[in-house]
Amino acid sequence: MAKQIPARVCIGCGEKKEKNKLIRIVRISEGVYELDESGKKNGRGAYICKNAECLNLAFKKKGLERSFKESVPEETVLKLKGELENFE
Ligand SMILES: [Zn+2]
Repeated sequence: MAKQIPARVCIGCGEKKEKNKLIRIVRISEGVYELDESGKKNGRGAYICKNAECLNLAFKKKGLERSFKESVPEETVLKLKGELENFE
């Protein structure tokens, strides 16, 4: 029997996708964010498509703020975008 892949909603485009099509952004501590390829890092997480476009959307539409309950500075978004490019 095929294993069911859980679905998550992208905080950028808002589309529901299989978890393995998305990447997790994790809040390590206040103002510190990383991409979590394994999906197992500790901290509050949010899922996003593996493209910079959705990260832009998440930033513009305040999806990041909503998910992490704090404002995420643009330089953090730029850092994540750089990391994200490795997965595209
Ligand atoms: Zn997306």
